[in-house]
Parts: sequence; C-alpha cells; structure tokens
Amino acid sequence: MPKYLDTSIEYLKGVGPQKADTLKKELGIFTYGDLLQHYPFRYVDRSHIYAIRELTGNFAYIQVKGKFTGFTMEGEKHTKRLKALFTDGTGFLEVVWFKGISWIQKYIVPNKEYVLFGKPNDFKGKLSLPHPEIEEASEFLKDGSAGYQPVYSTTELLKRKGLESKGVSKLLRTLMGDAAFKVDEILPQNIIEEFRLMNRQTAFENVHFPTNDDMQKKAIFRLKFEELFFLQLKMLRIRGMRRKDIAGIPFSKVGHYFNTFYSDVLPFELTNAQKRVVKEIRQDMGSGKQMNRLLQGDVGSGKTVVGFMCMLIAIDNGTQACMMAPTEILAQQHYNNIRKFADDLGLNTALLTGSTPQKARREMLASLENGTLHILVGTHALIEDKVKFNNLGLTIIDEQHRFGVQQRAKLWNKSLSMPHVLVMTATPIPRTLAMTVYGDLDTSIIDEMPAGRKPINTAHRYDNNRLRVFGFIKEEIAKGRQAYIVYPLIEESETLDYKNLMDGYESVTRAFPAPQYTISIVHGKMKPADKEFEMQRFKRGETQIMIATTVIEVGVDVPNASVMVIESAERFGLSQMHQLRGRVGRGAEQSYCILMTSHKLSHDARLRMDTMVRTNNGFEIAEVDLQLRGPGDIEGVRQSGIVDLKLTDISKDKELIILARTAAEKLVDEDMHLQLPKNQQLLAYLQSRRKDGFNWSRVS
Ligand code: ADP
Ligand code: MG
Repeated sequence: MPKYLDTSIEYLKGVGPQKADTLKKELGIFTYGDLLQHYPFRYVDRSHIYAIRELTGNFAYIQVKGKFTGFTMEGEKHTKRLKALFTDGTGFLEVVWFKGISWIQKYIVPNKEYVLFGKPNDFKGKLSLPHPEIEEASEFLKDGSAGYQPVYSTTELLKRKGLESKGVSKLLRTLMGDAAFKVDEILPQNIIEEFRLMNRQTAFENVHFPTNDDMQKKAIFRLKFEELFFLQLKMLRIRGMRRKDIAGIPFSKVGHYFNTFYSDVLPFELTNAQKRVVKEIRQDMGSGKQMNRLLQGDVGSGKTVVGFMCMLIAIDNGTQACMMAPTEILAQQHYNNIRKFADDLGLNTALLTGSTPQKARREMLASLENGTLHILVGTHALIEDKVKFNNLGLTIIDEQHRFGVQQRAKLWNKSLSMPHVLVMTATPIPRTLAMTVYGDLDTSIIDEMPAGRKPINTAHRYDNNRLRVFGFIKEEIAKGRQAYIVYPLIEESETLDYKNLMDGYESVTRAFPAPQYTISIVHGKMKPADKEFEMQRFKRGETQIMIATTVIEVGVDVPNASVMVIESAERFGLSQMHQLRGRVGRGAEQSYCILMTSHKLSHDARLRMDTMVRTNNGFEIAEVDLQLRGPGDIEGVRQSGIVDLKLTDISKDKELIILARTAAEKLVDEDMHLQLPKNQQLLAYLQSRRKDGFNWSRVS
C-alpha cells in the first residue's frame, strides 16, 4: 500500500484531475509529499487589524475590517477603474480596481463586513488600497486566516483555477488535517540530538502554519539542514566511493621529465602556493586512487605551469596527458605555451580543434592511438568518439565552468583505467559555494601571485571624462605600453553591440589618428583566422590599442599591455570585469584598469564598481558577486545541475552549509555504506528516493 505522502495529488480533496494536471505541469507537484515540500516563500502577519485612523505613514501591508460605502466608476476604456470607499467607523480608505471590475461589483454586498488585506499606495499622504485580498469577516475568523500566514508562489494558470496562494494554503491544511497524515523521521537520532533539530513532522507543520516565530525558525532550520545534509552526503559519498573503489593509475615516481623541467627549463621560481599545490596533486596522483581535483586560482596566478608540471608526472609514469580549453583561441594559446616547454624536453605535442584539417587530424589521431603523442591540447573536439588515447593518464580541463558535467564525464571515460582529472578555474568560487557545487571534488587553491607583480590600479570614471582617459592611454603608449578597450557583448542584441563597438572604434580612431597610432579590432562577427591575425599583431606589439568585445575575456596573454578600459562597465558582471582586468598586470610594469560608466547607475552597479576599485582579490570579488546575484547566475552553478535547493539560499546560509557538511563528513567517515543500525531509516529513505535521481543504490 502506498504511503499517504506518495498518494497522487488528484485524490486530495479540492484538487481533482484538472487541477492536478495543472499542479503537475506548472509546479511539478505530483504527490501529497511534493505539495508538502512546496514551501511558502514568505509569511505575512495577518493577526493585526488596523484602525483606518492610524494609517498614516509607510506600511508594507495593511489589514482593515469594515464596510464598503459608495462605488464610483472613473475613466474610459483603458483607464477605466472602479473606486470604493471603505470605512471602519474611524475613517475612510479608498479602494481601487483596474481589473476584474464586474466580478467585484457582483461579489461585494453593501453593508456586509469584510476584511481587506494589501499593499497600500501612498499618494501625497493619502493612502489608497489597490486590489486588496477580500474576505468576509465572519469567514476570516472561522478559517484561520487571522495570524501568521504563509504566502506561496503560484502561476497565472493556477490562479485562474482558484489556486492562488490562499488556495494552495487551503490544500495544505486539508493535507495535514487528515487523520492519515504522518511524516516519519529520516535522520539518525544522534544527528537530531547533536544539532538540536526539530522532528520532521513538526517541522513541516510549522514551516507552513507556524505556531509562533520561534517554531517557524526552528522548522526552517531543520528543513534547510536536511536539504543541505542530503546534498553533502551525496557529494561525499561520490567522492568516498571514487577514493575507495576507482583505481587510478598510481603515478609512483617523479622522473626524468619533471626533474629536467624543474631544474633546467622552468624560467622562474615557483611561488610557495604553486609548490604546495604541485605537492598536493603529486600525492593525490600517487595514491593509487583516481584524482578528481579542482584547482582554483586568480587570473595570472600561474595555474598553467602547475598543470604542465602535472602532465610531466603523467608522462614520467608512461601515460599521455591532455588539456581541454573552452575556446579555440585559448586552446591555441595553451598549446603555444606548452609547446615551448615540451619541445625543450623532446616531447610530442599536438593541437586538436574544430578547424584542424582532415589530414593533420588523421595523423594526429594515429599517433595518439599508438602512443607516440605525449600531450594533446584542444577544444571540446577532444571528446569526440574518434579521439582515442593509447594510455591517457591525466586530463586537465581549463576554465571548467564552460563545460557541463556530462562533458567532463565523457572525457574521463576515454581510457581503460580512469585518468586523473584536474579542473582549473580562474573564476574563484566562495568556499561554501564550492562545497555545494564541487563538493565531490578535492580542492587546491593558488592564493598567491608570482613575485614582482604590482597590484593593478583600478579607477571608476564617468563617460564625460573619456578624453582624459584617452590622454592617459597616450601617456602609457608613449612609454611603450599597450592598451585594451573593451565593449560589452550581450547575446540578445548582437547588432546593437556591434554598433556600439563600431561607434567606439570610430571615436578611438579619431582620438588616436594613424599613422602615429595603430589599432587592432576583434569582435564576434570576424572569422577565427582574422581574429587570430589581429590578436597576433597586438601580441607582437605591432598595434598599440586592442578594441574588442569580450572575446578576449579569458586567457590572452600580452605582458606589455598595461591599460584595460572597460566601456559601459555597468553592463558587466563582477567576475567578468575581474577576468578582464586580469589581462593586464602580467608584466613588471604598473598596470591600470579603468571602468567607464554613465552617471546613472543602479545601486548594484555602483556596488560592483566600488568593489572592483576596492580589491584585486578574486575570492573577495566572488563573495560580493554571490551576494549580489545569488548562486543561480554564478557561472558553473546552473551547469552543475546539482543545485536544486528549495529552502537554502547559498549566498546567505553559509554557516548552515558548513554544519551540514561537517555532519555528512562525520557520517561518511564512520559508516559510508550506511550499515550501522542507527542509520537504517536514513538508508531506507535514500533508497526510496531513487526515482528523483538520487540513486543511492547505484553507488552502494
Ligand atoms: P593563470 O593560468 O593562472 O592565469 P598563467 O599560468 O597563464 O596564469 O601565468 C601567467 C603568467 O605568469 C605566465 O606568463 C606565466 O609564465 C607566468 N608565471 C607563472 N608562474 C610564475 C612564477 N612563479 N613566477 C613568475 N612568473 C610566473
Ligand atoms: Mg590561464
């Protein structure tokens, strides 16, 4: 017999097949249990009824009880509105409707008592109440509407079927009012005690219909904890299983190539952070288990060299290595950098992208398969089925956020034994977010810049100062430096952006006339070969200014460039601006980043500018970015397909994330396979959730 909570939603009193259909389609509510987990997104306090006389000043919401007196129609056609005066004996309040007028006229009975609830408009000190929620006063007291009320998200279609927030709330009352309503505890007792969690049933009751403030807080704490705990448990189990069961090729030695590179080829001293990370990775790859590691480090912190040294360890142990980059330009650049070193060591390297000619590709794939090719660099062309390695030992994925989890998985299935995987990202992620999105990976962090780098000087300037900014660029060019000027690119309006870019180009050419000045331009409408040509010209110092859309965002390395001007900076996200800024400051010279905006800035845009000016630290910037945008917009989160949290706000619930992680870690350390008696109800629950993609049995 199915459990009460597994009952199909159409059987709930007040639902039926039609509404059930809409609930499924619009909110994904299939069962009683799904409805139970459709949490309110906020609460309103409807316990207080104001006297109209008290209503002066600012109110987010008001609630009054009284009678309608006269109705009047005003305006014509589109401006038509119905006005009414409402009184409770202490004063009068104007109520207005712009829609559903005929229904209101039919429904409202004069001289009957109603309770109105809504958001008042304050027009020159005179309050009016547009489209209030209306309820007959006698009903209001009877059906429990008074008090602390949940507010549920619904959709237009549901509202038309009578399931506005209030309707949903009624369904929940019906659901929880049934004698069969019972929610089993699923967390182990020791965890409940340790974290002082409310029991599960009480938590559900109080998240929907809180008895009081305190109970509501405890209910939410419990349910958030549960949500995060399961997520962490899943991640840690994946990690644990991998560590235990998936044999990685044990890279037992550090050999000829690594040692020669370190002592004879490497042109600089590694930073302490780089040394530490190389060591972490070496140990991980030597453990006999498959490595799955995330390497985070700010732009320019020297991740590529670290990646290359790891490749050398792979080759020293008789395997091949590959590196995948998100764009052709980046792949090309990695290839060039890696080749310089690899050639010195006598290693064979190749580049594979979508534009590699057929003949070259055939030869390359052959040498990859027979093992003579040591290192393959490329774009997602690497994951095509035709690409077969002889013995792939290490996969490096650069700028991971551009690749989905599936693509990652495809790469590590390319070899009989699992290759080690190193994911490199220049978009630092706050710790708690990393725990959530990449919780199944180990992490290494390069938190130190190579010596001798001067912090980039960042300034925010308004558009009317552009000529002064151009003057500054001229001074830098006179010193032999180069400058970038970047324009926004927004996919929805490519034509508009193109026009912006071209207008900008014209004004820059006017300010920097030939032949004294030379300018490169790169944008999305150009052929890859032309882009490459312009980039190379700039890189070789043949042009002084590079005008571009954000195609240069990642990777491109021109140490002589010392100025980065970001036009319409208000249209850029923080992490994007930080990435762009990372294009300069790569040489020994003092570098500058100038953010150009109009005077009119939103609060958030201003905060973004201030943050950029205040700090060069990518982790700090990522933290602000998370606060401003929430996790959904942070790159990598959506693609991760993991974050589907109903209650938790990853940007705010940091302590809770860490608590849940700690609890899950403890459990996995103690009883990864959930065999202890105290964990049996948890195991049973997880197995029952297989259909939601949790698939506990597969890993166990
Ligand atoms: P990332 O990939 O982290 O953005 P890169 O590996 O491209 O950084 O390094 C940026 C630049 O700094 C490159 O030119 C690289 O050769 C150089 N570099 C890397 N590590 C060091 C170091 N320890 N000392 C000096 N220069 C370094
Ligand atoms: Mg790099």
